[in-house]
Amino acid sequence: MFNDLKDKRVLVTGSTAGIGLAVARTFARCGAKVAINGSRKDQQIDALVEELNSLGGETIFIQANLTQTPECEKLIGEFVAHYGGLDILINNAGGLGGRNNLEDITDDFYDRVMDLNARSVLMVTKYAIPHLRQSAVESGETTCVISTGSIAGREGGGVGAGIYAASKAWLHDIHRNWVKEFTKDHIRFNIVSPGTINTAFHDGKSDELKEKIAGSIAMGRFGRIEEVAPSYAFFASHACSGYITGQILDVNGGQLAP
Ligand code: NAD
Repeated sequence: MFNDLKDKRVLVTGSTAGIGLAVARTFARCGAKVAINGSRKDQQIDALVEELNSLGGETIFIQANLTQTPECEKLIGEFVAHYGGLDILINNAGGLGGRNNLEDITDDFYDRVMDLNARSVLMVTKYAIPHLRQSAVESGETTCVISTGSIAGREGGGVGAGIYAASKAWLHDIHRNWVKEFTKDHIRFNIVSPGTINTAFHDGKSDELKEKIAGSIAMGRFGRIEEVAPSYAFFASHACSGYITGQILDVNGGQLAP
């Protein structure tokens, strides 16, 4: 179905685990040229790259801590040096960064959460734009940025997760701005907004709390990473979504229907 993704050059940030890894697997199966990324090179990375390479296409790993602007620039530089250009950027790196009620929030906490979820996307996208623009000219098709938003960006997040939720709302909104600036360059911007997906993101929660959350979801359960990943392929495929930009696709089992 996503035949036009074959040989596309795809960078997936924050993709050594969870949703990002499932997204990388989806693109690898489509025969794309993929780079996965994480802030550390853990022991399992070589095996992960081997697994992705066995699915099809080609995959490399690029280490970069995206809370730091120079590392965002380095990530794009290394990707383009390897693949000769960039067709699809997926901004997925992100996380809760801890919980703090408003009266306990410090500058350090604010910086940590915003650097991880907002600055990282801003700076990776900034350095990616010239390459996405060039690829669109060369291919005669749209290129794209897809970012991972969140249900929290729509409904405010749980208590203690206000900065995280606001950082995702920030992301949802800056995409709308980028549509205005870069549609003339044939770059599309869309968001995949997961609900509650079973990843390490929820590791700190008790079984009791997880059951309570599952009960708040129309489908009665957390989502699986494999159920989120195909939406990225849809947005990445010019054939499927060449006329779709500035949208937020909620993948949440009916947890919220905005
Ligand atoms: P995860 O913890 O399983 O994966 C996070 C990934 O990001 C890992 O590969 C990790 O190495 C990477 N990462 C973390 N900090 C990084 C940094 N500084 N630089 C580069 N990479 C970094 O979590 P996940 O649930 O798969 O989260 C992926 C995205 O989905 C995040 O943006 C998260 O906010 C979003 N999200 C998750 C859920 C959910 O319920 N799991 C819901 C909504 C949105």
